[in-house]
Amino acid sequence: MSIERAMDILRKYPLCNHCLGRLFARLGTGLDNEERGRAIKDYLLMRIHERILNEGLSDELLNDIKALAMSGHEPSIKFLSNMGINVSPVKCYVCGDNIFTRLNEWADNIANSLRSLGIEFRSFRLGSKVPLDILSRELSITTEFNVSSAESIKREINRELGKRVSAILGVPFNREEPDVEVVIDINTGSVETQVMPIYILARYRKVHRLVNGEGQVRWPIDRVMQAYGAKDVVIHTGGEDPMGTRVLGNGRPVILQVIRPSKRPGINDVYALLRDSDYDIMLDNLSRVRASAVIRMKARVRDYVITYRVLAITDNPVTDDNIKSLRDYFRNRQVVQVFRRGRRVRRRVSMVYELDGRVVRGRLVEFLVRCQGNLYIRGFVHGGFGDVEPSIAGTLGFGIRPIEVDILGISD
Ligand SMILES: [Zn+2]
Repeated sequence: MSIERAMDILRKYPLCNHCLGRLFARLGTGLDNEERGRAIKDYLLMRIHERILNEGLSDELLNDIKALAMSGHEPSIKFLSNMGINVSPVKCYVCGDNIFTRLNEWADNIANSLRSLGIEFRSFRLGSKVPLDILSRELSITTEFNVSSAESIKREINRELGKRVSAILGVPFNREEPDVEVVIDINTGSVETQVMPIYILARYRKVHRLVNGEGQVRWPIDRVMQAYGAKDVVIHTGGEDPMGTRVLGNGRPVILQVIRPSKRPGINDVYALLRDSDYDIMLDNLSRVRASAVIRMKARVRDYVITYRVLAITDNPVTDDNIKSLRDYFRNRQVVQVFRRGRRVRRRVSMVYELDGRVVRGRLVEFLVRCQGNLYIRGFVHGGFGDVEPSIAGTLGFGIRPIEVDILGISD
């Protein structure tokens, strides 16, 4: 938009330097909106002055200077008072009582609120609640004058407050991944803070066989809470382990969501606290991730490739021929599991990529099954009363019961 349009706008709406400057936010890099608005008003006054010198004073030019003066432009106020005309500035049409004069006060409030959290943080994000009438007046001007280069008042307030708070606390402003978030209500001046969780991606191994259900599994959560001075830790696992299953090898992906951390130690310090403990869960390969990693991990679970070791007892003796035919049959074989709930029937399709087995002793057989992450492994072994098709039991033609299931590896 051409600077000349600024005069059209000011004739109709008195705007403070900030609110005028924002409309021309694309012009003059290196200027803040206040300086930009002020420069535009200076320029407009000089243009008018030039015309007065060339054409003489007219009502039109006098009214334009009055409009500039009303918007609080000091040189225009002085220009008029030299002519014996007194004009007092009026409220800015958009922001009213020039809310920008209160930035320092608000920045102090925000800094105090953040300090009073009593926690360690290395970055913050700042937002503001701007009264709707201000936003709608701003919108009415950009619509009426078809301004496409404008910056929003919210953005300017956030940036200006962010700069100030950052300077007070010596902590950078971070939009993407802040340690804390603060929102100020411009109307009331009240400040709300939120300590952002920390997300840690790890691999866990479950080295003991627990038969009392997954609720009994002792995670080193208290150690993690201690490391971060946190209020709680939420565990997000990439899939679930069949009951009583050990998780060996490279382990299963897990993301720990550390709630309201008050300390931010490095990953190595956390890892040191987790070592030599007698929990059922061992955590390894710790790294910091973003919140979005939880959703990404959950979305990939069905495509994990899991290698199971299953120890099973069969009703009849198993021969080498049996093993060979199982091995040949279950090569990239699709397995369908049917779930019945009332009248509803749901089917889950999983791939078995590879199967091998050996007779341990008598009717004790060990199988290695490499399959898709969503395969119901016990059902695949015993056939699930006909609900898993094909299964090891169905293929053998006699009963087989899994007695131990271990995960030897997960590739995700
Ligand atoms: Zn304003």
